[in-house]
Amino acid sequence: ATASSSSSSAQPLRILLRVRPFLPSEAASSGAPCVSLVDGYPGSEVTVKLKDQYTSRSEHYNLDAFFGQENSVSEIFDREVSPLIPGIFEGTNATVFAYGATGSGKTFTMQGTEDCPGLIPLAVSTILDLARCTGTWCCVDISYYEVYMERCYDLLEPKAKEIMALEDKDGNLQLKGLCWTPVQSMEEFEELYSIGVQRRKVAHTGLNDVSSRSHAVFSVRVSTSVVKGKLNLIDLAGSEDNRRTMNQGIRLQESSKINQSLLALSNVISALNTNERKIPYRGSKLTRILQDSLGGSSCAVMIACLNPAEYQEAVNTICVAAPSR
Ligand code: ADP
Ligand code: MG
Repeated sequence: ATASSSSSSAQPLRILLRVRPFLPSEAASSGAPCVSLVDGYPGSEVTVKLKDQYTSRSEHYNLDAFFGQENSVSEIFDREVSPLIPGIFEGTNATVFAYGATGSGKTFTMQGTEDCPGLIPLAVSTILDLARCTGTWCCVDISYYEVYMERCYDLLEPKAKEIMALEDKDGNLQLKGLCWTPVQSMEEFEELYSIGVQRRKVAHTGLNDVSSRSHAVFSVRVSTSVVKGKLNLIDLAGSEDNRRTMNQGIRLQESSKINQSLLALSNVISALNTNERKIPYRGSKLTRILQDSLGGSSCAVMIACLNPAEYQEAVNTICVAAPSR
């Protein structure tokens, strides 16, 4: 395949692969990354090879785009997220997911760091710029919540009560009590968002690292006098394999909820991929909430994140998104 010129916004669901660099702690022991390009160029449609350096087992997969260790988050933004934004101003919804095991780079990609902003701040900044240029009335507001054990908790509202998911007359779930806060500048956004990020770290007293076991759903919504559109940017719970991590008790309950919701998501994705008529949104809270932003006229981008040093994990991740060739 050669660099494709097709517009990202035309395709209902794009599957991207993102391989993060080796961390300093991994670099010494790691050798070659477990994934390499066999056909195509970074940023465009590709075939990749996953190879186990110990057994030399390997498989090939086709993907809509590949972003390797040399590619930055802003390249992912420019090629894959930025093209979705004009549609938001015309009233379409779109969703970007980061999927993968804990440590594969999901949060780095979505949230970013101070030096290296992720897709969320990059998207908000672009949307605010566009909103300023529209010349008509236009309101931008954001929400941020976590789905943990199939329940939703607001990350922006200090009195964070549980958010209730109620079905509306069209069968979509509405989140009752979810707080939408208008933002007019990046300063306002950053102040709010950092509170949410902090809250995500310390939520659910007594349980460590809930952040890797919850889905974090950030949404930015654009309302004009004519239409409303929203972009969801979702940092999914870690997709690690229960049997390998030997979870027990609360951990086991959590992972069965996580597996259930990730399985439901992958069922929705494969139904969308194969143009099935009936999409199984009802499989989990997450897919029901996202029903209005997945399929139909909405665009979605799934970013499968890989740790370059973990072959089996990479196979598990990529299998959900892209069937083996
Ligand atoms: P996850 O959210 O999937 O558990 P993280 O985003 O926390 O994973 O990433 C794991 C580690 O890898 C973090 O220390 C993060 O800073 C680092 N990391 C991830 N992606 C990159 C990248 N593209 N460049 C540099 N460091 C990265
Ligand atoms: Mg994370």
